[in-house]
Amino acid sequence: MASQTGSIVQHSLDALMEDTSFLPTLKDSTREKAFTSLASILSTPNHILKSFLRIALENGEVVRIPAFRVQHNNTLGPYKGGIRFHESVGEEDVMNLAALMTLKNALHEVPFGGGKGGVSINPRDFTIKELHLISQKYVHYFSDILGPDKDIPAPDMGTGDREMDWMMAEYKSIRPGQPYRGSFTGKSVVNGGSLGRREATGKGVYFTFRYMLYDFVKEQKNLLSKSENIFAKTALSSADRSLKVAVQGFGNVGSVAALESYNCTKLQNKIVAVSDRNVTLYNSDGLDIPSLIGFTSMNDGDLPTTEEQLSEFDLKAKILNRDEVLYLDVDVLILAALEDQVHKENVDKVKAQIIVEGANAPVTGDADRILSDKGVIIVPDILANAGGVIVSYFEWLQGRETQFYSEEEVFKLLFDKMKSTMDTILPQFFGDPFPLRQNCYIHAVMKLSTILYRQGKLY
Ligand code: GLU
Repeated sequence: MASQTGSIVQHSLDALMEDTSFLPTLKDSTREKAFTSLASILSTPNHILKSFLRIALENGEVVRIPAFRVQHNNTLGPYKGGIRFHESVGEEDVMNLAALMTLKNALHEVPFGGGKGGVSINPRDFTIKELHLISQKYVHYFSDILGPDKDIPAPDMGTGDREMDWMMAEYKSIRPGQPYRGSFTGKSVVNGGSLGRREATGKGVYFTFRYMLYDFVKEQKNLLSKSENIFAKTALSSADRSLKVAVQGFGNVGSVAALESYNCTKLQNKIVAVSDRNVTLYNSDGLDIPSLIGFTSMNDGDLPTTEEQLSEFDLKAKILNRDEVLYLDVDVLILAALEDQVHKENVDKVKAQIIVEGANAPVTGDADRILSDKGVIIVPDILANAGGVIVSYFEWLQGRETQFYSEEEVFKLLFDKMKSTMDTILPQFFGDPFPLRQNCYIHAVMKLSTILYRQGKLY
């Protein structure tokens, strides 16, 4: 299926267009025009860079690999966003993912713009030496536009601290004598990375959902019970009981979010299903997440796919089809795999009342509308999965100060930041009839427009 990532950004901007009164700094008479200018600024990136990396494989063959860096918007600071190694990577996709980064940073008041990179490969098809070469070539080709105050990449799907370490080393050797620590984030801790960066996205995903239901909603119960808002009703009906949770994707985001939930003894939620590229595992009494993580760490990141593997590790679970995870009778569905997972064709089969977007753009625009009309709360990507880029910001700061924070400090700073965003957004969300995504976009767009306006770039 063609990528729908763009549709969700466009769909959300179109929804804002229906009522532009949220743009407070602009005169009434020019507001609509200002919004049209803003929408065009946001729907087009500043720069699209593309290269075909020439790589000599270990078997002697030479291949050309498409690689991209999209710099979407730098109103708030240097471009910032991950580099994805995945076979689905294409120009349009990277462009839309870069736009999400601009909105994500604006929403959480992280002083960065938005960017994204990608290399069109399946990393499993390459040797470590070849992946090293691809990482070096990527930096070599894009080095002019990268830098600690220009454009700062980070890990994304298919990349991690190993690739960031390689890339920073290449950047340093290309630009001797210049600052390099802040040129990449998501590096290994020994190489100047931040403690907690690896877990940051998954922890943030779980924190967002937990804070909304168990801190905010419980505290505001009296107020919310008087509200006519359909989302307030969904939240209230979920807040006082143990919830069944399914997690799509068991990589860096999904496995950490699942583990956070498993370890949270304060709440009696059960992770009844997890999935990866091969299977869904289901157990109505709850899965043993630490043992599953133990299994994946010894099996190239994959979950068990056979009865023998399950019994060898004393794991109790039913093996289902990979996509079954989406349609189970659960309360919460955490989407932490790829984009476009819930779309027009399968949305009617989704039963969860709360969807948390750990991945970027896992729900298409069409599906978003259908679910929201039914009162399903979708905690959008730019709110839920910002933990990674927030801790990237802390890493960048630590690199500047050459002073490092403890893991405890990092997580406290992370949760404080996410809490402060939610304390701004949630009262509005439960008070008006717009979905949470729309509220988040309003806040992000308002932040960007105010700055553009102050800078004389928007009238
Ligand atoms: N790739 C992550 C994201 O999509 C993190 C980006 C970063 O740390 O710059 O948010």
